[in-house]
Amino acid sequence: MSNLKSYTSIIHNIGTFLTGDLAAPLVDADTLVSVGGMITYVGQAVDVDFSTADLVIDAKQSTVMPGLIDNHTHPTLGEYSPRSGNHNWIWHSLQGGVTTMISAGEVHVPGLPTDRVGTIAMAIAAQRSFSNARPCGVKMEAGAPLLNDEFSDQDFAEMVAQGINQLGEVGIGPVKSVSRAAELVKMARKHGMTSITHTGGPSISTSQRMGAEEILEIAPDIIGHINGGYTALAPSQIRCLCEGCLGALEIVHNGNEFAAVTTLNYAREMNQLDRIVIGTDSPAGCGVPALGMLRAIALLSSFGDVPPEKAVCFATGNTAKVRKLNRGVLKVGREADILIACGPLGGAEPSVLGSFSSGDLPSITSVLIDGRLVVRQSRNSPPPSVTPEITLRN
Ligand SMILES: [Zn+2]
Repeated sequence: MSNLKSYTSIIHNIGTFLTGDLAAPLVDADTLVSVGGMITYVGQAVDVDFSTADLVIDAKQSTVMPGLIDNHTHPTLGEYSPRSGNHNWIWHSLQGGVTTMISAGEVHVPGLPTDRVGTIAMAIAAQRSFSNARPCGVKMEAGAPLLNDEFSDQDFAEMVAQGINQLGEVGIGPVKSVSRAAELVKMARKHGMTSITHTGGPSISTSQRMGAEEILEIAPDIIGHINGGYTALAPSQIRCLCEGCLGALEIVHNGNEFAAVTTLNYAREMNQLDRIVIGTDSPAGCGVPALGMLRAIALLSSFGDVPPEKAVCFATGNTAKVRKLNRGVLKVGREADILIACGPLGGAEPSVLGSFSSGDLPSITSVLIDGRLVVRQSRNSPPPSVTPEITLRN
């Protein structure tokens, strides 16, 4: 076996190359090379030496795009989700093209601690657990503490030093005062932590309604589920947030579809599609949508009338940017988390882009994480119209 640092993967004969970068979502390239888990080449096959590759995939003119980043999940530990009764929900989402998940709070942990020390300890334990053992290879960015009235500046400094980079949903948990929450978010930001709010009506008993006025005061980096989780704000409140808050506009699958398209329309009107990010907000009471990220892309491409290559960026490059992750865009120097996909067998539109625009989901035929093949034909997406040819030498 070739060692990790030199493991070389080549994907060639690519028909459509989606970069995940909103500034240039489509490029003219038929080949992608990664070495040691990082993308080292995007271009034409004629310039590539195939002789030393460990993995060669002939994409047979199908589509390549970045692995999807689910900006809103609620993990506990491992694949266990007591909220929805699932034991393998991360595996199912991986089959739907998700290669990175971000925790918006480990809120479904049985007996979740709410005291200061317990909250910090829980966040660090979750972060350690998922970075030591990635379920099915999926990169779970866990360790997202809910705010606590007793947090100090020093607490945020210590959490960041321990690898905690994000807050759980602001609006859930013991802090009930909006001005105190705003103060704590400011403190967390000073130390480099990313903040996200709960938005809309309450979801669980410990959350509260968060309207535009509260969120404008908190000024988060991400307006979490701006289309409700589950219950959305009125369109006038959504508009007020789009116009008055600088944060990313997060649309979730487990929210209100009408509010999702409403948000998208406001963002487009403002020429700020770079603010849209997508999550599933799962596991939740309504379960785990294994294909939720793909469904949200299809919703925004079809009903939302956004070019599908741009809608893909909402689930990849846009999210990587706000979360400061070196992935989500297929270009040299980024982590090689990659999907190969084609139109679904029997679909009205033969291509991936056509499928999304008409509301259909593509077939995920391969998933690579860090340049390694982790899924050979998704078990959850529709059957493929084109099957890539895979040669594994190591
Ligand atoms: Zn929420």
